[in-house]
Amino acid sequence: MDGLWLTISGGEPLTNNWIWDMLQLAQGPDIKGIAIITNGTLINQETAKLMESLGISEVMISLDGASAQTHDAIRGQGSFARTMRGVEILIKYCSNIFLGCTMTLTTLNMDNTEDYVDLAFQMGFNYVWINPPIYCGCIVQSELDISYEEHLRIMKLVRELDTRYFRQAFAVYYNVPYYPLTDPISPYLDLSTACPWGRTNLTITADGSVLPCLYSRDLCLGNIFEQSLIVLYHSSVLEGVRNGSLLAEPCRSCLYREFCGGCRARTYYLTEDWFAADPWCPLVRGLTEEQIRVFPSNLPKEKVGGY
Ligand code: SF4
Repeated sequence: MDGLWLTISGGEPLTNNWIWDMLQLAQGPDIKGIAIITNGTLINQETAKLMESLGISEVMISLDGASAQTHDAIRGQGSFARTMRGVEILIKYCSNIFLGCTMTLTTLNMDNTEDYVDLAFQMGFNYVWINPPIYCGCIVQSELDISYEEHLRIMKLVRELDTRYFRQAFAVYYNVPYYPLTDPISPYLDLSTACPWGRTNLTITADGSVLPCLYSRDLCLGNIFEQSLIVLYHSSVLEGVRNGSLLAEPCRSCLYREFCGGCRARTYYLTEDWFAADPWCPLVRGLTEEQIRVFPSNLPKEKVGGY
């Protein structure tokens, strides 16, 4: 491995009294960068300056709406104002930190997506991630779920929004591994957004359990206190998903398997099978690539090479 990226998430990592000691210990030649996922409500001038001085590379803010009405309906009254205050402080004191925000889609905020992206751009974020829900932890299937049709509609809208902003160094991403199929030129140009499940990503929980990703809590590969990360990375489960031998069709033979392979976590929570075909992939649902690709009407000509 050519250096590691370390991402600290929670719960809310800034409630941990040891966070600053841990970030200090995490400095070293093998660590290429450190990212923190936080709701931003505990960020003040002091913590922002600490992040900058510790060389934190990236902060991702959990923000679930473009207004207090939407965000607070999900995260509690007053949350939006506290998060916005944290973001303003970060922008003021942390000029070297790459700043993103992430929204989990529900029926409460899905019609807010365009306003959300516009707000993030205006505030000075560098990128936005829009996440369809994965039912793990405290997220359970409920009346707040978006439907499959809404998922498809918003995935295409996100490609339109990404196209609107890409020349202004602001990226908009829909967090499913087959999102690159919406690219109007070629999904292969979008490989930076490939699914990291057991490929470029492993998650270590507080008790040392190693998982293929943050959401795959029911698939423990082993424990960091008993086996090395390299050994766990080469486990038969991860190898079988990476080379496709464990995957069901059509994922196993799919042209895009090497960067996609389906979202293993969402597939598991929807089918109780880690290796089934991803039920939310449009190709698995029988759509053609032409039906998924997005040709926005205002797409700049240089992006599409004259299409
Ligand atoms: S069929 Fe499977 S590997 Fe192919 S794009 Fe869909 S989810 Fe990805």
